[in-house]
Amino acid sequence: MIYLDNAATAKPCKEAVEALSHAAENNFGNPSSLHKMGIEAEKLMNEGKSAILKRLSKKDGEIFFTSGATESNNTIIRGVANALCRRGKTIITTAMEHPSVARVMDKLEAEGFNIVRLSPKDAIDNFEEYIADNITPDTILVSVMAVNNENGFITDTKKLYTLVKRQNKDIIVHTDGVQGFCKIPLTGDFISMSGHKVHAFKGIGAFYAAKGTRFLPLIYGGGQQKNLRPGTEPVENIAAFSAAVKAYPEDMSHFELLNQRLREGLAAFSDIRINSLIGKCVPNILNFSVLGVRSEIMLHSLEEREIYVSSGSACSKGKVSSVPDAFGMTDKEADSAIRVSMSHSTGEKDIDELLSGIEAGIKRFRR
Ligand code: PLP
Repeated sequence: MIYLDNAATAKPCKEAVEALSHAAENNFGNPSSLHKMGIEAEKLMNEGKSAILKRLSKKDGEIFFTSGATESNNTIIRGVANALCRRGKTIITTAMEHPSVARVMDKLEAEGFNIVRLSPKDAIDNFEEYIADNITPDTILVSVMAVNNENGFITDTKKLYTLVKRQNKDIIVHTDGVQGFCKIPLTGDFISMSGHKVHAFKGIGAFYAAKGTRFLPLIYGGGQQKNLRPGTEPVENIAAFSAAVKAYPEDMSHFELLNQRLREGLAAFSDIRINSLIGKCVPNILNFSVLGVRSEIMLHSLEEREIYVSSGSACSKGKVSSVPDAFGMTDKEADSAIRVSMSHSTGEKDIDELLSGIEAGIKRFRR
């Protein structure tokens, strides 16, 4: 089996499995309990927060745990909009966002917010400046993903943050950091993360909130996590998330080599369009169109060889994605797009087998 769909979800690493099982056996106390078991569970949770802050290179600020990045994105965007709506009603975002951001924006728009959606295709070489140029006195929030989940396109969040704050330091910057966390540096007043994209488990996410930032909670309950995200904290899942973050390798050169091998292999076939721009995308994701073979046909043809890729974003199954249009792809290119997303256990042999599978798929199905 060759699993090349790590941007959809990544296999839990052994460190995460061990940490989960150890916590379930030994640290199953409620972090709010006053006795020793509670204190130990709280300690484990605080260690998780420290591991995430360290990986983000942050010295201060707060980590909140959630059920996943969908909840993180909803909480931040709505929480900031609700907190700042008296100051302004304009939110700047992009046309390439994950549905967990895009659908919240649609809802806020229906409620009277002014949502500005910018496309990378309109400023591919200076997207950060383009975003900042759209700021108006009414802008309260800028929400942009660090790495696009379908093609790996990077927005330089540090540059964007600096440009936004230079215009108005009170504008809040939210980074959907899901596909960038542990892979590239991330900056923002708020940063969303997801456990299952970094080899922890599904059902755990987090977000970073810079010191002094304000948002209103989405849910109400027992006062946990400063009353801003109440509910008994899933200590076992937090311990696994923390272990996965600590175990995630820093070095991306492995992906660069595999990415190059895949690009070179694809170059030998006719009518391939590479949708992940060289130098602008993370190396662990490569999106390309095999023109003349529909994505789903190629995906299932590869599946017959036990090679698993994606035809786009697994999270938007059955829904038309806005990403191809945001990057100026034609319908033909979008209909034949394949996303390969690697992990540190992907090897050269896997890439070669994928290339053989694509070659066979082209011979069999191209019209
Ligand atoms: N944001 C991005 C960029 C994603 O790729 C995903 C999932 O694919 C999410 C948010 C949602 O994450 P979760 O599955 O943790 O809800």
